[in-house]
Amino acid sequence: MDPLSWHARKAVRARTPLPGDAPAPERANTIEILLERLRQAGINGDFESRTLYTRRLPPGCRSCLAGRGTNLLVTGLCTRDCFFCFNHKPRVDETVVHGIPISDPSEAPEIVERFGLRSVGLSGGEPLLRPERVLAILRALKAMPRPPRVDLYTNGDRADDLTLLELRRAGLDAIRFDLAARGYDLEPVRRAHWIFEEVAVEIPVIPEHKKQLERMVLELDAMGVPFLNIHELFLCAENRDRVVSDGQVPLKVDSPHLLWRPTAESGVAALELLLFALAHTRSLSVYYCSCGTQEVIASRGLARQRTRPSGS
Ligand code: SF4
Repeated sequence: MDPLSWHARKAVRARTPLPGDAPAPERANTIEILLERLRQAGINGDFESRTLYTRRLPPGCRSCLAGRGTNLLVTGLCTRDCFFCFNHKPRVDETVVHGIPISDPSEAPEIVERFGLRSVGLSGGEPLLRPERVLAILRALKAMPRPPRVDLYTNGDRADDLTLLELRRAGLDAIRFDLAARGYDLEPVRRAHWIFEEVAVEIPVIPEHKKQLERMVLELDAMGVPFLNIHELFLCAENRDRVVSDGQVPLKVDSPHLLWRPTAESGVAALELLLFALAHTRSLSVYYCSCGTQEVIASRGLARQRTRPSGS
């Protein structure tokens, strides 16, 4: 799965009313209670945008939060077909940097330089369906005079040991696994943890998976994995039929987020998971990158582009 900065442009189209939209004062009350419990338990971050984390922010998220990160879609092709997937359909084997299609990996550094970007998330689809392309892009970025930080987002299906070692040698800073795409199977995380200092899991919070998520939090903590990033499950034009068919109910009038359509229960489940992590982990840091966080990131990125002198 790719970083949510990619979602921001597409989620705007998800505002059309959907069956099941309804105000839910009780839910708003539950959220306020959970936020107060998190405050008392010492959560870090910004309550207004619901950008919350239990211990520390992943290094790759800092530039992104400052509006200086971007998504680099390596390919739209994937090994999976998740019901919550927000990628364009039909899937296309194209490479897109900061929203700009490229025909050769060597074109990526100029775009990163032109927009003053400091971190790049390589994503898809499943980027490791095109390992040579990933490595060529990574080497081109790391050869820049001021190389950006580079994270790779993968579902883990093609993350064999040899590929992981090649990525590390080519300078990849961190690898993030979407385990919701593979039934929370930790096997690729376990192997990557031997090779990379920084390994993360990044998932949408599917409320019905609460028990699996709690088990995963405990296992990640026991393994010494440093980061778990969670997002709300949300609707956009590409996934809403399947997300609604799955029984999820989209927020409407009680959503504070104008550009986003998180599902009704996912935000509650995300806050509950943060509370669980605060109470039960020793080193794992859980970061809730909410729909509100994405709006902040998008507005900071736009503001930066407006004030950035051309050519700087
Ligand atoms: S792993 Fe699932 S969510 Fe990620 S790109 Fe593939 S189908 Fe979409």
